[in-house]
Amino acid sequence: MNTLSTAYFEKAKELIPGGVNSPVRAFKSVGGNPVFIKSAKGAYLHDVDGNSYIDLIGSWGPMLFGQAHPVIEEAVRGALSNGFSFGAPTYNEVLIAEKIISMIPSVEKVRLVNSGTEATMAAIRLARAYTKRDKIIKMEGCYHGHGDSFLIAAGSGVATLGTPDSPGVTVSTARDTLTAIYNDLESVETLFKANPTEVAAIIIEPVVGNMGLVIPKEGYLEGVQKLCKQYGALLIFDEVMTGFRLSAAGYQGLAGIQPDLTTLGKIIGGGLPVGAYGGKAEIMDMIAPAGPVYQAGTLSGNPLATTAGLAMLNLITENPGVYAALEQRGTALKEALSADLKTLGLNYTINQIGSMFTLFFTDKAVNNFSDAKTSDTALFGKYFKGMLDKGIYLPPSQYESWFLSAALGDSEYDQIISASKATLRSL
Ligand code: PMP
Repeated sequence: MNTLSTAYFEKAKELIPGGVNSPVRAFKSVGGNPVFIKSAKGAYLHDVDGNSYIDLIGSWGPMLFGQAHPVIEEAVRGALSNGFSFGAPTYNEVLIAEKIISMIPSVEKVRLVNSGTEATMAAIRLARAYTKRDKIIKMEGCYHGHGDSFLIAAGSGVATLGTPDSPGVTVSTARDTLTAIYNDLESVETLFKANPTEVAAIIIEPVVGNMGLVIPKEGYLEGVQKLCKQYGALLIFDEVMTGFRLSAAGYQGLAGIQPDLTTLGKIIGGGLPVGAYGGKAEIMDMIAPAGPVYQAGTLSGNPLATTAGLAMLNLITENPGVYAALEQRGTALKEALSADLKTLGLNYTINQIGSMFTLFFTDKAVNNFSDAKTSDTALFGKYFKGMLDKGIYLPPSQYESWFLSAALGDSEYDQIISASKATLRSL
């Protein structure tokens, strides 16, 4: 029964464009009406009609330890009584900066913003100012938020809606964004050769979550870094999704690569709106008021958001085993679903790393956006619907990653696996 969700969505559509405040939520690519959530705790989302779902969205990444973790909840409750926003410095901002810097070796200085989009927009402005160059390279199918420069061959909701070049993005902006193919060094080198002194930076999701999950081939990221150095461009790792999700030092910590700049979001706010960008002090000191590159925010460093974020980062350092445990769970889930696909004679591709996971409805190995687009999205839509009916809330698009959380236990994994088996047999 989705009586209330359906009624709320009808009303929402009259008041909010498409009825939602972020496109993928509208279930447009999977069909049907979105479910309106009332509350969430641990591994579960609860909707306005009284249905409960195992949460595999995790707020699109932030909920590493599950929804409303008591430690974060208590920290935010404690902060509430001190006021919500001052527009003046707080010591928590210093503490969270210190924490991020201590966790991610390439980050020597960090600036807080309110979203991943703000972080990536500011990072490329800074890279352009630092290198005195205009162009950037991004990878086809990577998503870096909705800044104009990134809405060129973008993944995530843009891919889902099939509007890779959004109206409203000017031709001159689009001209400064060059697109290469993920996992294909030659395509990067070709762009550099054609623009040897024009490229300010490469921005890349080191592990991609926004074409569905795509993992870098061995040597690929190192190769990208080498080309950046060779042509005098900065390397920006967009770790909005992967930062603190795959390791306590970002994916860069796992890969042993130090980019020049890193963008963060999602987990660093513990579920409240926060983003950040950071990197070498020499570059970061170009930002106002230390330097000439302007970037500001009325609510940046908001006391509730920094409190939640700090509590989250402390939870991570106090529970270093969380990543190995999630890797084990992720691998076991992959094995279980792969075995079932085999039984059914299906050859679909599963990509998984740690707590990130995508079942692609294609027989092709998925190493880039073209591969991802060979997926049968209509079939994924049916699978999504079948899973939702069985109480499993997947991200409502083929081009997204599932996010596992530490709150999922044996019983939840059993339910996910049996729901998947039943759903695949009904397709
Ligand atoms: N970069 C990446 C890699 C992302 O996954 C996202 C959001 N999914 C963003 C940037 C944009 O972040 P936000 O939605 O907080 O603006």
